[in-house]
Amino acid sequence: MIRILKILPLLISLTSYCQTGTLKGIIKNGVDNSSSGFITIYLELNNKKISTTNSRIDGNFEISGIPQGTYDICLQFVGYLPHKMIGISIRNDSITNLEIKYPCPNGNIESKKICPYGHIDNILPITYGLPTNKTLEKAEKGKIWLGGCVITECSPRWHCKSHNLNF
Ligand SMILES: [Zn+2]
Repeated sequence: MIRILKILPLLISLTSYCQTGTLKGIIKNGVDNSSSGFITIYLELNNKKISTTNSRIDGNFEISGIPQGTYDICLQFVGYLPHKMIGISIRNDSITNLEIKYPCPNGNIESKKICPYGHIDNILPITYGLPTNKTLEKAEKGKIWLGGCVITECSPRWHCKSHNLNF
């Protein structure tokens, strides 16, 4: 028993040491798919900015030391509308690798929760990145849609279950 008590604080300090994740990504221009450098990237939690970085000339960026959770990313570039991506999962000891399109030809107008076919039922919010256990649970219950790590369109925020499409 004494031995266990001695080991326990060491284990706790080791686990708390690794309780963060990393967000990596590449930003590609939504018009011609070229690298988007010098884009300002804000990592946000509950509408508060947690961290800021810029994409390098080759479009790559990285933010490390992020506590596990679900975040939003806001992209900004002079002369373009800012673009917010909602629901990015960050996991402890994991790298979430995203491919993002920005700026987009249509100016990243945030889509409304209405299917292009005109109905408003059977629509789920999309979550990007490596799902946390909480996120997986929600997905299994059919409350969210897992969008993965490559964002093929400019700003899909919703998934229609009836028509199996993102918008
Ligand atoms: Zn639909």
